[in-house]
Amino acid sequence: MKNKHILLIATGGTIASRHTQQGLSPQISGEELLGYIPEAKAFCRIDVISPFSLDSTNVHWKQWVILAGLIREHYEAYDGFVICHGTDTMAYTAAALSYLVQHSRKPVVITGAQRPIDLPDTDARTNLMDSVRFAADDRAHDVCIVFGGLVIAGTRAKKERTKSYDAFSSINYPPVAVIQERRIIFYIDDKGQEIQPVCFSDQINPNVFLYRVIPGSDGKLLDVLMDRYDALIIESFGVGGIPDYGDGSFREAIRKWTDAGKVVVMATQVPNEGSDMSVYEVGHAVKNAYNIPESYDMTLEAVIAKTMWILGKTRDRKAFRELFYTNVNHDLLFLPEG
Ligand code: ASP
Repeated sequence: MKNKHILLIATGGTIASRHTQQGLSPQISGEELLGYIPEAKAFCRIDVISPFSLDSTNVHWKQWVILAGLIREHYEAYDGFVICHGTDTMAYTAAALSYLVQHSRKPVVITGAQRPIDLPDTDARTNLMDSVRFAADDRAHDVCIVFGGLVIAGTRAKKERTKSYDAFSSINYPPVAVIQERRIIFYIDDKGQEIQPVCFSDQINPNVFLYRVIPGSDGKLLDVLMDRYDALIIESFGVGGIPDYGDGSFREAIRKWTDAGKVVVMATQVPNEGSDMSVYEVGHAVKNAYNIPESYDMTLEAVIAKTMWILGKTRDRKAFRELFYTNVNHDLLFLPEG
């Protein structure tokens, strides 16, 4: 692990925030962040760039494309990348980068903190040091989040706690590794299996609407959204139940969207264990009638980012389906039969 060359990409977030009269705001530079982990010099050289400095509340597809572009631009010059990022939308950025930067033998590590790095009781120094340590490890690869001692595949992370230091969980998939007292223990050590060359994308179609069904929702509302969006993701109940309160409004809306050549994806509002629309009549009927893809075990963040990434490449529904059901960075294990 000697003499690795790491690029630190500082983008803001709590890790780099200071208290102001208006609340926490990102003000600590990338160079200052590095100053808090002098021990990293023992095993790597680190350069710093800062393409933007934002609370991640304000990070969206444009910043995802910027980050992927920077990794592409600097890919040959570095052994690994560490992105400091706010935690609130970190899982979306990690998923998006998993699609925009595929088959990377070099690690792209995203980290942040629940408390600013200049506070005495912060988690930031440990997270940053763990991230650099992981990015410098020969076994590390692809996009992941390092946070609270866990290394989580970029497509599998979810922020589940707003305040605690163990903010992120790995959903429907084990953590890739854990980091305890400077030791990295790999649960999934599969770098040797990757043979494809790294592949970058820079196209995202952000015209994706997420609709969360609640008891009593009116499917007719979806008509209003149809002109504005290219894809509709429905966060349905349980394994994939679509309500029908007697007027068939959801089925009718799904018919209209699919007839208009738009993409409809079924997801679930239950974070763990995923969807399977074939189980209940309330899902089965819709799936059979319109043959719409469903999330299965993918996280909602991954489904959203994957839909935007695929629609950046193609609007063809068959091609969409094929790519949607292709496993990228461990995002999908529960593949449909046939
Ligand atoms: N609001 C902050 C952000 O996402 C929260 C954090 O970084 O923990 O940038």
